[in-house]
Amino acid sequence: MHIFTACLGTETNTFSPIPTGRGLFEETYLVRGGAYGDNPDLFALPLMVFRDRAKARGWRVTESLCAFAVPAGPTLDRVYAAYRDEILADLKRALPVDAVLLSLHGAMVVESIASGETDLVAHIRAIVGPKVPIGVELDLHCHLTAELVATADAIVIFKEYPHIDAADRAGELFEIIASTAEGKTRPRMSLFDCRMIGLYPTTLEPMAGFVQRMRTREGRDGVLSISLAHGFPWGDVPELGTRVLVITDNDAALGAKVAAELGRELRGLRTKIEPLWTPLGQGLDEAEACGERPVVLGDVSDNAGGGAPSDSTFVLAEMLRRGMGETAIGCFWDPGAVALAFEAGEGARLTIRVGGKLGPMSGDPLDLDVIVRALRRDVHQHYFGGSKARMGDMAALTIAGAKDFDVVLNTVRAQTFSPDAFTQLGIDPADKRYVVVKSMNHFRAGFAPLARRIIYLSAPGAIDVNYRRLPYRRVIRPIYPLDDNAWSASP
Ligand SMILES: [Zn+2]
Repeated sequence: MHIFTACLGTETNTFSPIPTGRGLFEETYLVRGGAYGDNPDLFALPLMVFRDRAKARGWRVTESLCAFAVPAGPTLDRVYAAYRDEILADLKRALPVDAVLLSLHGAMVVESIASGETDLVAHIRAIVGPKVPIGVELDLHCHLTAELVATADAIVIFKEYPHIDAADRAGELFEIIASTAEGKTRPRMSLFDCRMIGLYPTTLEPMAGFVQRMRTREGRDGVLSISLAHGFPWGDVPELGTRVLVITDNDAALGAKVAAELGRELRGLRTKIEPLWTPLGQGLDEAEACGERPVVLGDVSDNAGGGAPSDSTFVLAEMLRRGMGETAIGCFWDPGAVALAFEAGEGARLTIRVGGKLGPMSGDPLDLDVIVRALRRDVHQHYFGGSKARMGDMAALTIAGAKDFDVVLNTVRAQTFSPDAFTQLGIDPADKRYVVVKSMNHFRAGFAPLARRIIYLSAPGAIDVNYRRLPYRRVIRPIYPLDDNAWSASP
């Protein structure tokens, strides 16, 4: 057997002002031929699992491009086409192959293509023909298009948010595709469209229980795999929304029945599965009133992982106005300020302009009197399952005149996933009263063990969690919660 693997992905916030071009892929993660290195991206982990499992069976593996860009605005047409064509050229050179396994995101919007993944898989199908199985792993924040489901043989989606299960899902996908290539299994995919937009962390109830119920139905009665495509609310594309996907061994009727049951159950939970978004002022009131420490506050509106600039100053400005101290806040994407801090050196005192650079959604820049506490070059923070996220060069600045208030800046725009974004600069978040992280929910995996309280702050910013306020133009209507009659035209 000979399998072919590749990864091309990003998560596109169609409302983001930041273009996704070649530089963003190269800066985030781009390797070829399986050279994943010591700091593999989360989306490289599935390719490593595919390779290990194939080699354990004595199969040959051809590894093509593995490219991922930190979320931002639409991917440029020419950049997408160049990477896609590189993968297709590698595939043609590798023929004949017995299976194709892909690690994709599922919410990659290209300037003139609503779903990059659907386009890529269609091109691959045209090359390998109808008989070679194609397996795809996706992030649960995907736009699961009907055409992608019709084109691929098996799609397995992360079940957990935070995404701690990328490698586990890759193993399941490999087994389904391997069994298909060997002629033992005939996967059939069934899709149920919930007609919902939302964001559903899986560490909280009742979502955690829903994920558990998906799991318990797998591996019985010919049900091979069950996935929930949560959707990505900040991607304005026609097929935005939440869908249940069930893979059976050649039993589409059973798959459709199970998918509909789960999809209707999720609809019933719709008002209970979103986090409690707390407005900025109220969230800081609650943090100040909290008797325990540290309180971890997610600045969800400025989450780089959702395509936001990661340089908004609304939370920092309000905390300083209130005279709050004993704080660590990060990570601000501000290469200019980091360059000034490096030039001044550790221990230097300077007035420095921080944040507020990318646009109105970033707020006003703040001119701060600071002492340069620590400087580090080429930092990576822990992501999930042994993967790493590149942070670039980092600077920790202590605000002069405030009480123990540290601001962390970096040069490679990245979500704050893990306490080591702070500890690598000598700041222990556990010692602080308040820890503010620019992250939507992924921070929960790393920070929940030390947090006495977690607050999802809905400050102004690029990521508005009030979906009714977003200027959608392309999403197919009706859909919850934009429309009152979301289920009038669906089963
Ligand atoms: Zn995701």
